[in-house]
Amino acid sequence: MTDCLFCKIVSGDVPAKVVRESAGTVAFRDINPQAPTHVLVIPRAHHATVGDLAAADAELLAEIVREARQVAVDEGIADTGYRLVFNTGAQAGQTVFHVHGHVLGGRGMNWPPG
Ligand code: C5P
Repeated sequence: MTDCLFCKIVSGDVPAKVVRESAGTVAFRDINPQAPTHVLVIPRAHHATVGDLAAADAELLAEIVREARQVAVDEGIADTGYRLVFNTGAQAGQTVFHVHGHVLGGRGMNWPPG
């Protein structure tokens, strides 16, 4: 999609601090980190929400989850634990409607989330 910010990160038209790439995904550091590690894992293909992606291409969603796990390993937070968050819809806090998994870790986390 031409007007999608994360599609522009995939194409390289918008810069990002990329930490991992796979055939179907790109992982980059969040521009406004909420934890010592805060990386977004996105599909190269445009899907608005995680639910849309699950319905359209379940294997690509699995690839995002595998890449998130590898980000956690690379960042040294896999053993202590990390949070993988897909905000879905405006009321849940989704602001960019190109699905992205937030990989958050490196500090203690509370539950329930705010
Ligand atoms: O879940 P939500 O849609 O709110 O997450 C969007 C995320 O994208 C935010 O955490 C924001 O900081 C991040 N972002 C980014 N780089 C941009 C624009 C937004 O990392 N250029």
